[in-house]
Amino acid sequence: MMEFLFLLLPLAAATGWYSGRRSRGSEPQSRDHNPVYFKGLNLLLNEQPDKAIDVFIQLLEVDSETVETHLALGNLFRRRGEVDRAIRIHQNLIARPTLTKEQRAQALLELGQDYLRAGLFDRAEGLFDELVVQKLFQVEASRNLHFIYQQERDWEKCLLMAQRLESLGEPSLRVERAHYFCEQAQKARGTRDEGLAESLLKKALAADKNSVRATMLLGQLAMEQGDITVAYRHFARVESQDPNFIGEVIAPLSECSNRIGNRQVFRELLRHNAEKQGNVDAAMALADMVRIEQGDKAATEWMIHFLSNHPSLRGLEHLLSIHLKDAADEPAELLPILKELIARMLETSYGYRCGQCGFLARRLHWQCPGCKTWSSIKPVSFSDCQAPRGNGLIVDEI
Ligand SMILES: [Zn+2]
Repeated sequence: MMEFLFLLLPLAAATGWYSGRRSRGSEPQSRDHNPVYFKGLNLLLNEQPDKAIDVFIQLLEVDSETVETHLALGNLFRRRGEVDRAIRIHQNLIARPTLTKEQRAQALLELGQDYLRAGLFDRAEGLFDELVVQKLFQVEASRNLHFIYQQERDWEKCLLMAQRLESLGEPSLRVERAHYFCEQAQKARGTRDEGLAESLLKKALAADKNSVRATMLLGQLAMEQGDITVAYRHFARVESQDPNFIGEVIAPLSECSNRIGNRQVFRELLRHNAEKQGNVDAAMALADMVRIEQGDKAATEWMIHFLSNHPSLRGLEHLLSIHLKDAADEPAELLPILKELIARMLETSYGYRCGQCGFLARRLHWQCPGCKTWSSIKPVSFSDCQAPRGNGLIVDEI
């Protein structure tokens, strides 16, 4: 609070002196004689800095010399979370007829950001729209509109805004555009419009050929339509798009594989991901297959072989569960306790992490709830992901 007063005090004094001089013609008026300045000073001395700031702002006349100061002040207030005060300063600025077109646009942009911060999206949207129409601060205004439409889940407008930003020279938003098509496709799927959903998902893949989400949704659509061979092909493509996500498609791949009878192909896919990528989900699924086909001993041996190269808590828990079933008649005393302990440790671990901000999650989010980046959260499959204590990371508890 005090830093504002240090900024305002000399400015207000100068303005008070200047306005006094203007009102009295050539006879200068000392700042001590300006009653408003004196009132502000009095409030300050009485330790009422809030009121003092308002008085000094009132004193600070808007002219070409002080517009920048008003903008800087408003910006500071907003950044400190004093949004009401920032709004008052910027509204006051816009009401002045003496501003140049550029200055007014700058004030509109700042006021829009104040509204955004205050959660008044409708008002903010109106101001940013005005700037876009005027072709002033187009990139900043479009970025803010892009943010607003995402919050409002208006995917059609998000797509338009992403295209506009790209045409204005902003970095590619192809990953985001793919997610907007996926969002629309999920909506279409909800209303049983499979044809529309499919065409939207193809658009998603045209925007981002590595969109795991679009491929998974295409697989789900094909399964719903009973086209299991096509579904398998879609789910299997995830491996080439991003091997981190293979664990997400193992269950549907296994189901498809059972129904179309291509167990050998599926087994090779699992082996490749387990051995080459060190993916524990693939290793556990392969262990389950081996157990059914060759028995508990072979499955145990496979898990021990995998864990010796890629140690992991989840893998160890799986090994113990196979071994405990194997030794059901006389389990070693320690083993059930060990398994219980590992299971409890796993309960407090997180399977997904945001590569941008470190957000930890128990389930897959396509948009990070922490930093709002799309496709930044990935399964942490190569090592176990335990929430570090007391480092301030945000985690989802869903
Ligand atoms: Zn994040």
